[in-house]
Amino acid sequence: MTGDDTNPRICKRCLIRDLAEEDRNNLRKYLDVIKEPDRTDPARYEARLAVCLSCEKMNAATCTACGCYVEFRAYAKNSHCPLKKW
Ligand code: SF4
Repeated sequence: MTGDDTNPRICKRCLIRDLAEEDRNNLRKYLDVIKEPDRTDPARYEARLAVCLSCEKMNAATCTACGCYVEFRAYAKNSHCPLKKW
């Protein structure tokens, strides 16, 4: 993880799940809001995140094209990438 001067825990290329336990727990709470039938299947979810991880628009787990946490956006089955990358 690389840090910046204001928050050494922020990494431009990290997902929330790669951060501290508190961050992972908060992510889980967000993801649990999405009902089971509306969730992306695990393989597609990981494929979407792989695209985000290599995308120039991702910064600190956030898509700067839409402002969403990428893990949250990718988790919703009917969601899409604002730049149509997935
Ligand atoms: S949702 Fe699309 S634009 Fe945003 S970070 Fe992921 S691949 Fe990039």
